[in-house]
Amino acid sequence: MEINLISDTVTKPTEGMLKAMMNAKVGDDVFKGDPTVNLLQEKVAYMFGMEDALFFPSGTMANQTAIKLHTQPGDKLFCDKWAHVYNYEGGGAAFNAGVSCKLIDGDRGMFTADQLRYAAEGRSDIHVPYSRLVCIENTTNKGGGACWDFEELKKVEQVSREFDLAYHLDGARLFNALVAKGETPKQYGELFDTISICLSKGLGAPIGSILVGSKDHIAKALRIRKLFGGAMRQVGYLAEAANYALDNHVERLAEDHKKAKEIETTLTELHYVKKVEPVETNIVIFYVKDNLDPMQFIDSMKSKGILLTPMGEGKIRIVTHLDYTDAMHDKLLKELRNF
Ligand SMILES: *Cc1c(COP(=O)(O)O)cnc(C)c1O
Repeated sequence: MEINLISDTVTKPTEGMLKAMMNAKVGDDVFKGDPTVNLLQEKVAYMFGMEDALFFPSGTMANQTAIKLHTQPGDKLFCDKWAHVYNYEGGGAAFNAGVSCKLIDGDRGMFTADQLRYAAEGRSDIHVPYSRLVCIENTTNKGGGACWDFEELKKVEQVSREFDLAYHLDGARLFNALVAKGETPKQYGELFDTISICLSKGLGAPIGSILVGSKDHIAKALRIRKLFGGAMRQVGYLAEAANYALDNHVERLAEDHKKAKEIETTLTELHYVKKVEPVETNIVIFYVKDNLDPMQFIDSMKSKGILLTPMGEGKIRIVTHLDYTDAMHDKLLKELRNF
C-alpha cells in the first residue's frame, strides 16, 4: 500500500467521476458549443454570484490570465512574499504580463490591510511603476493551508479600492477555506474582481481550474486564454469531472481536515519533532529537531511506502486528500510513532 501525501493533486478520478465523464455531452468549446463546459461555467458563476466564468486547463493559466487582464506591461502587482503567483508560476507575471511583483512581508502567506496601505502609499512620479493589482491566496499553500480572516479581506478590499487596484483571489484551495470556516462562495464573489479555483486539488478532478468575474473581465480572459494556447475543443469530458467534483467532493473536505488535525496532534507528541505549524485545513507543515536530517526522515518513511515532501529550511509537508483512506491514516500515525 503506497501512501502518497506529497500533494492533494495526486488523486485519481473515482469510479463515479469516471462514469460521469464517459457519459458527458460534448461539443467544440472554441465555438462555445460544449454544453457541459457551458453548464459548469454558468453553475460556478451563479455559485459565486458573479456574471461569468471560464474553464482552464490549469490554475497557473487561470492566475496568469487574471494578472494579464488587470494590468499592462510595466505595471506592478502586490502579493505576499510566499505567494504562488510569484514563487511557483515560473516567473509568469514577468514573462506573460510584463509586470513586477511588490512582495509584502506577511505571516504564513497572509498580510494586513495596513501592510498593503504602507506598500501602496508614497511617490507616484515617473520613476515608479503604476500599481494595478492585489493578489490574495486562500488557503495559503506555502503558509500550510492557512485561512484568511474574512474581516481582514474586507479591509484589504477597501484599501485596494482607495488606490484603484484590482483585487484577485488565487483560490486554488478556496473550498478548503469555505468548509473550514463555514463561509460561502457568494461572500467571496462580492469582494473580489476575479477568483481562480482549482478543481484538481482537494476536489479530486484530474484536471481543471475556473476563473470567475464580470462579463467584461471574462470576455478579456477568453482572448488571453486563446493567446496562451488554452482554448480547448471537446473538453466537456473534463468539465464533467469538475461538475461531479463540485456536486460530490466539497463537504467531504472536512474529513481531510480532520485527518490533518489528527496528524498534527500525533506529531506534537513526538520527541524528534521541533515544531508543527497550526493546522487549519488539509496541509500539515512541521520541522524535525536539528539533530535529525529531514531527508533521512523522509527517506525512512519512503522505505515504508509513505511519501512526504521536503519544503526546505528543515520543513516537511504532508497533504491529506480524497485517496487517503482510514487504513492509510492508521498506518501513517503508527509509523510516525515508531520512527
Ligand atoms: C496548485 C496551485 C495553483 C495552480 O497550480 P496548477 O498546478 O497550475 O493547477 C495556484 N495557486 C496555488 C496556491 C496552488 O496551490
